[in-house]
Amino acid sequence: MLTLFFTVTQETGALYVPTYTLAIQNEGELRRIYIGELSSLDDNPISADAFTNVLSNYYEGDIGMLVMTMTWGGYEARDIDILEDLNLGYGSFRCDAQGDERQFYRMKNRRWRQVPALQPFGELKSYLERNERLVRIIAHKLGPRIGPGICDGSRADRQLEDHVDPLTVKQGKYYIDPPNECDICSIPLSGETFMSDTRLKEHDAAANMCADCTIYYGAGIGWGVGQLYRNEGDGKWLLVGGFFGAKDDDDSTGP
Ligand SMILES: [Zn+2]
Repeated sequence: MLTLFFTVTQETGALYVPTYTLAIQNEGELRRIYIGELSSLDDNPISADAFTNVLSNYYEGDIGMLVMTMTWGGYEARDIDILEDLNLGYGSFRCDAQGDERQFYRMKNRRWRQVPALQPFGELKSYLERNERLVRIIAHKLGPRIGPGICDGSRADRQLEDHVDPLTVKQGKYYIDPPNECDICSIPLSGETFMSDTRLKEHDAAANMCADCTIYYGAGIGWGVGQLYRNEGDGKWLLVGGFFGAKDDDDSTGP
């Protein structure tokens, strides 16, 4: 997940992709090159829930545990399993050279099969294009948490719990016709605990946002700024915060 993040957000992104190259020479002449790189297992796009599923299957649903791997250089012993869940794996290619002629082969089902000319990282590039939504989710979720001098593993849903107001909960108001995905990162909201309808920090527009995007891209929870909703299951979202101006201001009529 961190490889995908750095690949799409850093100028030198390709340097973050694990690879190997092995060149075979005969009497000073290049004969064959073996190349190993990250590639997709097949051409199918992965499910919209892939990010949420990896978080819940490997990190107890806590993005902080994923971010924490950065403190020891991003090493993850379960890497190969997570890759498979993201429809990725390490693949090997071969290029045979005879004079100026080049022939390319790809290892598939334990044998080399001839393929059209290969571009370095071409497979990964088309994977990223095919799974643009996963890329968008990873970039928005990890962008504000990982950077020069930043390694923020705090949980957005824990921070939003502070905005749950018992008086608002008591009203029993539900979001009418709730959205299915976050307007900012596009993560499916069904796997989220909180969602908000909040004004953006940088624009004068409001958006339906997951917990992470509410914290990092939203202007806050409060009267006229943002309303907080809690997932009650079955696609029902209960208004739990941001309805009254302040917790001690019971006369407020809401937004
Ligand atoms: Zn989001």
